[in-house]
Amino acid sequence: MSIIIQNGTIVTASDVYQADIRIDGEVITSIASKIVPAAEDKVIDANGQYVFPGGIDPHVHFGVPGYADDFVNGTRAAATGGITTVVNYVEPPTGGKSLLENFQLWKQMAKDSVIDYGLQPVINAEYSESVLKELPTLVEEGATSIKLFMSARGIGLLLSDVQIYKILKKARENGVLATVHCENGDVIDEIVKETIAKGNTAPIYHGYSRPTILEAEATHRVLAIAQAADAPIRIAHVSCAEAMNEIEQAQKRGVIAYGETTPHYLTKDISSLELPNFEGAKYICSPPLREKWHQEVLWRGIVSGILTTMGSDHAPVPFEGGKTLGRDSFAKIPNGGPGVEELFSIMYHFGVHEKRISLQKFVDVTSTATAKQLGLYPKKGNINVGSDADIVILDSKQSRTISKATHYQKCDYNAYEGTKVQGIITHVLARGEEIVKDRIFNGKPGRGQYIYRNKLNV
Ligand code: MN
Ligand code: MN
Repeated sequence: MSIIIQNGTIVTASDVYQADIRIDGEVITSIASKIVPAAEDKVIDANGQYVFPGGIDPHVHFGVPGYADDFVNGTRAAATGGITTVVNYVEPPTGGKSLLENFQLWKQMAKDSVIDYGLQPVINAEYSESVLKELPTLVEEGATSIKLFMSARGIGLLLSDVQIYKILKKARENGVLATVHCENGDVIDEIVKETIAKGNTAPIYHGYSRPTILEAEATHRVLAIAQAADAPIRIAHVSCAEAMNEIEQAQKRGVIAYGETTPHYLTKDISSLELPNFEGAKYICSPPLREKWHQEVLWRGIVSGILTTMGSDHAPVPFEGGKTLGRDSFAKIPNGGPGVEELFSIMYHFGVHEKRISLQKFVDVTSTATAKQLGLYPKKGNINVGSDADIVILDSKQSRTISKATHYQKCDYNAYEGTKVQGIITHVLARGEEIVKDRIFNGKPGRGQYIYRNKLNV
């Protein structure tokens, strides 16, 4: 038995065209203008609908203690929202474990995922030396990207410039791409202290204490370090025009620099932090939400190719028992919010429907470019013969209103509550299995597979 997707409009990063798709087992076996199904074949009628490659979210945090979503809940939410592959961050080891031992623990923790997944280790200060030795082993395990921090010294994440330089050189040698959280953490920590000393403790002061210039400075610095190390670099969650400008300048001088942004920086602004009843705490993340004018600059950066991938930065800190820990001081509010379930819909609505980006660009930033950067291509990230049958079918004529009442993620709020979006995902296929139909999830925990990702090839 094959699955035949008939009469749909296929969208790839380069083309929009009418064709039928045949799926045998887990992969696409044929694409043709007309495929006649046999009696035993299952037919999905996509007439009048778009047929997209499944979304890839390269920036999720499932399985973190204190967060609302484990790998089962988180991947189910992702799938319902049109994401068929995630790359999840592995928190740094505790209790003296090696990076590899810790990686294996996370791989075990992720095994009940409902969609395919990769894992990427966060390298903190404690492991900045041992990673130089362990990196080749991690690459054998398929971990071909890592995350580094230029902030958060208080929790041991901040790396010195020299540590970053040494790690980037080693990463390049091993075909590993480093993604970097760019904020000047030490100066921010000082501003936070000054702010609290003045009695300014409300959520809005989180935004005021992390100015754009300190994101731009760290972005500039790591791009310079990458250039000196002759290494490619990926900048996580770019929130502002100033940081994006640094990436553009580096790209112009030949640095292989990739920029990622998130749906919340494209659609939300700092005024959310002033919502009454402490609701502003829901929007505390780092970098913080910026002034509204940055949004259109970031959209233009997507169009021009400075920013090439989208990540949700899904970090589902619950409101009750999570965000509320910081009622007396913004500095105690855990950073992050949910988003994996809405990435695809928000990008379709505010990007394609509101005519900021083309259909092809939508596919590129939600799937194809991400697959290429993170070693998933051509298994993932395209609608092509031989690729995994990871497919999202979307009816652009229908709309829905986003709400925690109907979301799958376990977080007790939705950052896009009440937002009406054009486009409803009618089918999600993951390696040939229809796991979502009309927003009802039908997949089984454990059906997702760990992906041994390819080495970076630049
Ligand atoms: Mn980060
Ligand atoms: Mn993150």
